[in-house]
Amino acid sequence: MSRPSTRTTTRSRWVVGALVVGLPLALLPATAGAQPTVAPAPQRDHGRHGNPTPLPKAPLMVGSGGAVTSVDRDASQVGIDVLARGGNAADAAVATAAALGVTEPYSAGIGGGGFLVYYDARTRKVSTIDGRETAPMSFTDKAFIDPATGQPYAFATAVNSGLSVGVPGTPALWAKALRDHGTLSFNEALKPAERLAAKGFVVDQTFHDQTAQNATRFSRFPATAKVFLPNGQAPAVGSTFTNPDMAKAYRTLRTGGTDVLYRGRLGEAIVRESNAPHTVPGQEVMGGKLTLRDLAGYRALTKAPIHSQYEGLDVYGMPVPSSGGIAVAEILNLMKAYEHRTGTKTSALSDVDYLHRFSEASATAFADRNRYVGDVPGVPVDELTSRGFAAQRACLFDPAKAYSPRPIPPGIPDGSHTSCATAPASAQPSEGQSTTHLTVADRWGNVASYTLTIEQTGGSGITVPGYGFLLNNELTDFNFAPTQGNAPDPNLPGPGKRPRSSMSPTILLRDGRPYLAVGSPGGATIITSVSQTILGYLDRDLALVDAIAAPRLSSRNGAAEDAEPAFLASPAAAGLRALGHVLKDAGEIGAVTAIRSLDGNRFEAAAETVRRGGGSAMVVHPR
Ligand code: GLU
Repeated sequence: MSRPSTRTTTRSRWVVGALVVGLPLALLPATAGAQPTVAPAPQRDHGRHGNPTPLPKAPLMVGSGGAVTSVDRDASQVGIDVLARGGNAADAAVATAAALGVTEPYSAGIGGGGFLVYYDARTRKVSTIDGRETAPMSFTDKAFIDPATGQPYAFATAVNSGLSVGVPGTPALWAKALRDHGTLSFNEALKPAERLAAKGFVVDQTFHDQTAQNATRFSRFPATAKVFLPNGQAPAVGSTFTNPDMAKAYRTLRTGGTDVLYRGRLGEAIVRESNAPHTVPGQEVMGGKLTLRDLAGYRALTKAPIHSQYEGLDVYGMPVPSSGGIAVAEILNLMKAYEHRTGTKTSALSDVDYLHRFSEASATAFADRNRYVGDVPGVPVDELTSRGFAAQRACLFDPAKAYSPRPIPPGIPDGSHTSCATAPASAQPSEGQSTTHLTVADRWGNVASYTLTIEQTGGSGITVPGYGFLLNNELTDFNFAPTQGNAPDPNLPGPGKRPRSSMSPTILLRDGRPYLAVGSPGGATIITSVSQTILGYLDRDLALVDAIAAPRLSSRNGAAEDAEPAFLASPAAAGLRALGHVLKDAGEIGAVTAIRSLDGNRFEAAAETVRRGGGSAMVVHPR
């Protein structure tokens, strides 16, 4: 399961920072590399009642017994406790996700949706569950066109409205994941989250900042302000935030089962509020079109994963309606195709040449996903993820300069693999920047890679009164108007349709066994963050935690490429500009979590060192 490594990377870059914040030495790697050397840690004390000692917040932990990584300490701890008590990866993934609904209520929760990729150790198969939010049956391709003007609604107008609320998929996904793969009941799996909502959690800087950034729109909705703006403002860092209404929602859901939401009183409350959101006077917003029938018709769907190969590994990702699996596969295939075209391995390149290739591959994959991928029949999946198509698309690649002018035109996936012909270029649609990702591995070898969201940070801004959770604005992931010129746009709204996503929960196998699981939030940047982490780890000789921490570039075929401030300050940025890349500051990009399987039932759990205040990587028995 572990990769043979000849890495000679020096000390992991984040270690110094971690020491400053006082992480226990036992949990720090002495050196970076495929198998970080860690000082021995004491065995965890499972106590007389089987209650494990809480683990510290750390971006890297190595050990056995199972692993959980998420952006949040409390949520990771919930997952670790489930594993420590004998639960498996599906149980822990659901419990962790439910806890994230409490501590990351602006990114995830029962009012949203998501995608799970799961490796089942018994069958040795990877499968996926599509828990994407779904449009009402009354939706048409003009759903986001203002009838008064004939023009698309302003994005913010649509976001902060009932019109953007899709049928939530998260509770159905949890129930299905537990039914298909888990050992816990739905009722049991949601108990820790209910406790967390009732007992509260300590407000950190990220939660405070996200609340403050949303304070204006939250204050429009009395039910939202009541829960998330106590005393009219964002809760102070260090204070304890409780959400008794959300505790009630979890109790209602876990004791009544998903029918309470899809056919019962929780669903009625969702429909009522999204169709006629309560607002303060003078701040009216559009209502939505959800019906009880739409809710009753919702299903979380089992789907075959996207499968491709890279560096001898099997790469599994999420299929349509996510474009994540397809785009990650195409990026990796293009990196291979560039190697063949130039005769130079990615691992042998300078940083600038590597990032140039990564940028061109990402932009090319976005051109193709924008043209061909959506919740429509006939997406040419096999072709888009094939080596042959990547070889064909690599004809546009010039090692000496960026393709210009952007956008790179889409290819023609007709299976010929010969011509360099392209379809006319088109505009790049916009997407949000929120969401959360968690990764779990258990001692039996099961692995869960799970990304969940309510779309924007804070979703639609609409809280279901009395239940303390925010409704998603996922339907704004549809393109409001056609983006593909004369070609059909696969991502227009439609009845019962699921908006295209970029979520890319990914599992890599080596010889049929778990090797690496990874994912990230960040809207369309998810695809590039996941790809950059995989490439950084596999090809650029970075330890996993350093591949995650590496300054990010997100080239998505716009005129300018998004980059983090640290990226812009690096020598690589100047080198890329010299090749014709136009870079712009996009602030922080993504929040990756990952788990690597080591030999002997050991795991390396890794998360962000700095982004979103640092992630939380845990193992059951650190050592
Ligand atoms: N709605 C986005 C998607 O499905 C995720 C939201 C985000 O990460 O900002 O791709």
